[in-house]
Amino acid sequence: MSETPTIYALDDATIRRIAAGEVVERPASVVKELLENSLDADASRVTVAVEGGGVDGVRVRDDGVGMTATDLERAVEEHTTSKISDGDDLDRVGTLGFRGEALHTIGAVSRLTIRSRPRDGGRGHELVVEGGEAGEVTPSGCPPGTVVEVEDLFYNTPARKKFLKTEATEFDHVNRVVTQYALANPDVATALEHDGREVFATEGTGDLESTVLAVYGREVASSMVAVDGGSATTPGDAEAEGPVESVSGLVSHPETTRAGREYLSTFVNGRYVTAGTLREAVLDAYGGQLASDRYPFAVLFVEVPPGAVDVNVHPRKMEVRFDDESGVAEAVTTAVREALLDEGLVRSTAPRG
Ligand code: ADP
Ligand code: MG
Repeated sequence: MSETPTIYALDDATIRRIAAGEVVERPASVVKELLENSLDADASRVTVAVEGGGVDGVRVRDDGVGMTATDLERAVEEHTTSKISDGDDLDRVGTLGFRGEALHTIGAVSRLTIRSRPRDGGRGHELVVEGGEAGEVTPSGCPPGTVVEVEDLFYNTPARKKFLKTEATEFDHVNRVVTQYALANPDVATALEHDGREVFATEGTGDLESTVLAVYGREVASSMVAVDGGSATTPGDAEAEGPVESVSGLVSHPETTRAGREYLSTFVNGRYVTAGTLREAVLDAYGGQLASDRYPFAVLFVEVPPGAVDVNVHPRKMEVRFDDESGVAEAVTTAVREALLDEGLVRSTAPRG
């Protein structure tokens, strides 16, 4: 007796599209992946230009190392990366990307065009991938570096496309991503354009103050104070293995605040993270001097020994957990508080909490 089966195996194209949704959720995720690739390619200048909040198009141009024709062809294949070559490398990843899946998955759910020319000589080439189908690599007269263009995002995954919000909201997400990377990399000239208009452009001089000025404007930049806290111990000291090596960056005057917490940026070992522990530690430093539900601006770099932090490496999460949560919190609060006290911006009473 034969029955009609109700369970079928999915075809490869469908499997790819489902997997793509895990990495690429919205235009901002495309921007994040492309920006990370540009930074990994040692770019000193990166321009992100989006149309219609990124829904209509995303273009990221860099002056990084570029790719040869062979590498270009490989770059869009599944699990191909130049960043690690075996499992051992996984334990000491020094680049932002390493999974080798971003270009492949973006290509599966959009029309992806890459033009690239090696920085140290050689010709430029172009490759178009549409709905997962890669075309031929053809010569292209492009400048050294790489330009990646993503159009018609989610055209073949209508369910995912339906989840996109308004252009304004999608652009908000894009803006946040580019802002975090611009702040984390003051030595890279990072520009953001929306519908042909410049939103911000940093100079790439390596100076955090001028980067904050470019990103957040004069009012905010002029209210920032420098944080420069090391661990309580001196180098070479037997007790130097505290939970935190250094805390540095800029935080705002207690009256320069916003209703949203997105202006309180924290970076652990150079990587942007969202960590309640760090956010609360910064707020504690203000000792109740902030209006309720208001958040200061902060661009804070926390360096910890590599073994002391667990970075959840899921592509969409930027969460971290510290071995010594309270030790890290205390070091951050102390460093920020000292900076505010130095400027007479908080009273020297015990911090709240
Ligand atoms: P991953 O970044 O995890 O290696 P991707 O799919 O994002 O995977 O990229 C695949 C490969 O393509 C990279 O390892 C790199 O060699 C190359 N690549 C991607 N973007 C660029 C770029 N902007 N400049 C130079 N090479 C790039
Ligand atoms: Mg990548």
